[in-house]
Amino acid sequence: MKASPEAQLRLLELADLDAELSRLEHRRRGLPEHAELDRLDQRDAQLRDTIASLEAEQGDLKRAQGKAEADVDQVRTRIDRDRQRLDAGQVSSPRDLENLQSEVASLTRRQSDLEEVVLDIRERQETADGRRQEAAAERVTISADHETVAARRDASLAEIAEQAGKAADRRASVASQEPADLLALYERMREQHAGVGAAALRRGRCEGCHLSLNTVDLNSIRAADPDEVLRCEECRRILIRTPESGL
Ligand SMILES: [Zn+2]
Repeated sequence: MKASPEAQLRLLELADLDAELSRLEHRRRGLPEHAELDRLDQRDAQLRDTIASLEAEQGDLKRAQGKAEADVDQVRTRIDRDRQRLDAGQVSSPRDLENLQSEVASLTRRQSDLEEVVLDIRERQETADGRRQEAAAERVTISADHETVAARRDASLAEIAEQAGKAADRRASVASQEPADLLALYERMREQHAGVGAAALRRGRCEGCHLSLNTVDLNSIRAADPDEVLRCEECRRILIRTPESGL
């Protein structure tokens, strides 16, 4: 393949621009804000789950409290009724009197147990409520952090997009000056060689694969026509002669 030395040199400019575009793409994907936002989203999802289960627990506790309070009321009503019967002197048989007194005593113990249950439920409600409020407060903080980090990410993305836009414009302009067959070869090499399609020959060394050429190869390069498109014998990339080639 033949191409003017200018067209060949422009491939190095193209390769620089491609390297810059891939650096920018790498930077765009690797912004630390992406991971930070993921972490915040994950924590927020955890907190949402926590709040939902605490709300369910609070609902259960509220129902349990209602039931325990109703039980206390019921026992209290029975105690009152029994006491009224005792006070009114309606019970004359000593045996009935003893039974009734023993029932009052056992109901009083039951009342005290139930009141313990009510207290315990209230305590658990307070704990659940405290944890729910803590989780809600953390969600507020997370939401603010998310906003800050997202703004920082967007600023970086805008800056990268601007640089990439400029590089892409320059690349299009450089590529438009290249002969079609040379450009096609460059693109094919670029696909095969991790994004680097052309490399300079610098002090007898291919800058693509970093191997030094042997004397035989260097001699054949010295003898080659300047229009001849050369390839590195080692990596097959397009090899570009420059004043620093050491020929
Ligand atoms: Zn090479």
